Amino acid sequence: MYYKDGYSMDENLRVIKCPRCGNEEFSSEAVYCRICGTMLFNYCQGEWNDYRQEWSWEHKNPGNARFCEICGKPTYFGMEKLLLDWEDVKVNSEEDAFPDFNEFDGDIFDETAAVDEDEEIPF
Ligand SMILES: [Zn+2]
Ligand SMILES: [Zn+2]
Repeated sequence: MYYKDGYSMDENLRVIKCPRCGNEEFSSEAVYCRICGTMLFNYCQGEWNDYRQEWSWEHKNPGNARFCEICGKPTYFGMEKLLLDWEDVKVNSEEDAFPDFNEFDGDIFDETAAVDEDEEIPF
């Protein structure tokens, strides 16, 4: 399957649109959104820098990456919860693949005739 819930990016792997606030106005050298301060690149967190007290933000990743393809570290979009957990995306896509699975014809059952699950159904 393809995880299509990511964010569109330009050829430099910078988002087209801010993933948090939706702002689309960036200067050419922008790294952070001018409206909400979100980073416009999906860097992996890299290594913790004790001296600077921050992550080194190592590799650029595509807009749907939860983890870095190079080093396996969590990405910024994943850490900031800008992307759903992949498990949730997978479950939803599987439901889409079987559109009839959750379809329920409400006319068959009268709500007043709801069966108590503890009782045996007489046939
Ligand atoms: Zn923003
Ligand atoms: Zn990395």
